[in-house]
Amino acid sequence: MKIELLPVLNDNYIFILIDELKLEAAVIDPAEAKPVIDFLETNNLKLKHIFNTHHHSDHIGGNIKLCDFYKNVNVYAGEKDSGRIGKQDFFLKHGDTVNFADEIANIYYVPGHTLGHICYHFLMKNGESHLFIGDTIFSGGCGKIFEGTFEQMFSSLSFLRDTVPENTFIWCAHEYTLENYLILECLEPHNINIKDKIQNILSLREKNLPTIPCLISEELKINSLLRWDDPSLRNILSTKNSLETFIAVRKFRDNPPKVKIPF
Ligand SMILES: [Zn+2]
Repeated sequence: MKIELLPVLNDNYIFILIDELKLEAAVIDPAEAKPVIDFLETNNLKLKHIFNTHHHSDHIGGNIKLCDFYKNVNVYAGEKDSGRIGKQDFFLKHGDTVNFADEIANIYYVPGHTLGHICYHFLMKNGESHLFIGDTIFSGGCGKIFEGTFEQMFSSLSFLRDTVPENTFIWCAHEYTLENYLILECLEPHNINIKDKIQNILSLREKNLPTIPCLISEELKINSLLRWDDPSLRNILSTKNSLETFIAVRKFRDNPPKVKIPF
């Protein structure tokens, strides 16, 4: 299975999974239909599945047009998003699996950003691990809590932190990385890892290259929203436990200081 990334809208990514033997494709969170159709037609691929992570329009906007253009497309999303996603015909819950290109993805229910949010974890036969995570984790961030509670988001992130292997690539649906880490640098001005990461992001973005996918092991080491047990972070925030620390960082992130973004 090959994975392609299509940048669309302002800062969204659509991911295309390709079965190179059967010349079939699956698409994750098609914000728009046209770039997907253009890509598939250019590469002579037929669309089999749409995998949605949650109901926000910048993740499902292309569903209906894609289903009209390609016949017999299967649309998968979380069971709790029933009625909120156009053309949905599979209603997934935690522990379910889906198949594509002879690979299997585990479905995890990860409420917080929305109450229906799921993610797709492909643990591939060649040992690679790919997590299509929608708006739950970003490089340098985590999803804004729109429908769930801080506790739900914390428990979803804890589950992912404890479950996915270190070599997991996280395919986040937005290119927010530079702004995220510039804001985190204001919270932790003496954190060398954050400073190094910003240099690394700048060198990619200068060339207009994506910072996605990112590695979970790196995010766990640097991203303040996932480091709730780090004593230096607790010290800055004067918090006593993991949940308090996560909530304090998330609240800081909800009212961020102004940062200058060079691109
Ligand atoms: Zn969203």
